[in-house]
Amino acid sequence: MIFQRLKLTSSNSSTLNSMAHPDLLGQAIKFREAMSQPIATENAAVHTLQLNLIVEEFEEFIEACGISFTNEEPAENQLKELADLVYVCFQYAVARGWPLDEALDRVYHSNMSKLVDGKPLRREDGKVLKGPNYEPPFLEDLL
Ligand SMILES: [Mg+2]
Repeated sequence: MIFQRLKLTSSNSSTLNSMAHPDLLGQAIKFREAMSQPIATENAAVHTLQLNLIVEEFEEFIEACGISFTNEEPAENQLKELADLVYVCFQYAVARGWPLDEALDRVYHSNMSKLVDGKPLRREDGKVLKGPNYEPPFLEDLL
């Protein structure tokens, strides 16, 4: 696997982009179409099912990591469960008709706006603070 040989840094992200960022929303839509599952539905039962799947996958991921990382499963199992978790999050978004990819991009830019002159502003205990240029993500037009 090429990923295992690459160090994940922003300097090689262009190399990674085409591989690391498949069209997750498009794949989620294709999956639901193939499985005859509703897209952008108001059906609360569908929303509940999708939420339960997120809880299920979250529990599997935490279990794979082990409590406080003791008894943790092999890294490939942890990665599988993390991927499952992200997968069902995209399934939920598509069921709701939400463009999660666009929302994630806006959240990314919002988080990067916390920087001050390209550097993080930190509280004494190390927590990253919001700088004066911070802008919260605007998501209302996506709904
Ligand atoms: Mg799983």
